[in-house]
Amino acid sequence: MDEYMQAALEEAKKGLACGGIPIGSVLVLDGKIVGRGHNQRVQKGSVVLHSEMDCLENAGRLKAVDYKRSVLYTTLSPCDMCSGAVLLYGIPKVVIGENATFKGPEEYLKSNGVELVVVEAGSANSSWKNSSKKIKTCGMKILENDAMAFFFQDCCPVTPLDWTLTK
Ligand SMILES: [Zn+2]
Repeated sequence: MDEYMQAALEEAKKGLACGGIPIGSVLVLDGKIVGRGHNQRVQKGSVVLHSEMDCLENAGRLKAVDYKRSVLYTTLSPCDMCSGAVLLYGIPKVVIGENATFKGPEEYLKSNGVELVVVEAGSANSSWKNSSKKIKTCGMKILENDAMAFFFQDCCPVTPLDWTLTK
C-alpha cells in the first residue's frame, strides 16, 4: 500500500476512533497531499460529508487546472454523490482501497474518462474487520459493525446481511 492510501486509511481509522463510519480519503496534487477527510455522517449528523466530500472540503477551493491533475485516494469505492464530485471537478484519477464492501458507479466514472485503480479488493475492509470489534468513541460506544451499517442506511435501500445493525 503506498503512502497516499496509507494516509487515507489513517483518516478512516481516525473516523472510526470517533464513532464514525471508517472511510477515509486524501487528495494528492503533484505528489503532495492537499486535502484529507473522513466520513462525518455520525459525528456531524451530516448527509453530505462522505470521506471524499470532507476531503475536498478540507482541501479548500483549488483552481480548475489543479483538480484536473490531482488524484483522489479513497478507502472505499465512491458512491454516486462522490463520483459526481469527481466528475464535476474533473479529477482524472481515483485510487480505491477496496470495492468489495460497497461498489459505487465505477463503470460510469470510467465511461467518463476517469482512470480507476482498485488497490486490493477486501484490503481496507479486512483491516476494519480485524481491528477491535468494540471501540471507545467520542462520547458513545458503537460496534464497528454498526459503523458500516450506518453507511449502508444512507447508500443502499437494503443493508447487506454482513452489516446489519446489531442494536
Ligand atoms: Zn460518497
